[in-house]
Amino acid sequence: MEVAFAAEREGRASVRPSSVVDNVYDNIYHRLMSLEIAPGARIPIDVFARDLGVSQTPVREALSRLEREGLVWKEHLIGYSAAPQWTRKQFEDLYAFRLLVEPEAARLAAIRMTPEALQQLEESAADMGHGEAPVDRNTRYSRFARADAQFHDAILKIAGNEIIRSTLSNQHVHLHIFRLMFHTRVTQEALEEHENLLSAFRAGDAQAALDAMRIHVERSRDRLLSAFE
Ligand SMILES: [Zn+2]
Repeated sequence: MEVAFAAEREGRASVRPSSVVDNVYDNIYHRLMSLEIAPGARIPIDVFARDLGVSQTPVREALSRLEREGLVWKEHLIGYSAAPQWTRKQFEDLYAFRLLVEPEAARLAAIRMTPEALQQLEESAADMGHGEAPVDRNTRYSRFARADAQFHDAILKIAGNEIIRSTLSNQHVHLHIFRLMFHTRVTQEALEEHENLLSAFRAGDAQAALDAMRIHVERSRDRLLSAFE
């Protein structure tokens, strides 16, 4: 079954037996990220349950998980729909905020870095760069989005400011960004910028970490802005 394989590839099947809910979640998650389910489109529980060959309960549970992640919305008496695409205003506000907090968080992370934390960051960055050949481009992007979110969150965690970390986490930045556009070079350039960040962390250079994060967020903004043109 295709959805079961998806869960296995994500490496979560080894953590605990993959449940029906996990499979349903993965299936809908990838369809949202690849825009196969268009932004704003309705997601009728009964139709999805029938298509996936499951009861309505796991679909309901998967959708409430996706709602917490900001990918679907629930409206009273109407039901679930895919979250709308970001507006340019939302995008610009979010990036202005990222530029205020993420470079500073990278500076703090460089100061508080331990060999263990650096090791984990290196592994997380390597996961992003050396995944096995993707089945298709969109699957690759939705996986990259998740890995990138984890990489940035790991830096915020090391920085140690939980207000910054939870505020950014609640914006679900990466999920929305990777629904915006699907160009291969976004992935490749971001990887090079991550590598610059890692060099700064390896050197214990707080100023270089701040600069590398500022440049990464600015370039990411500039690359993605074309999605609104
Ligand atoms: Zn990144």
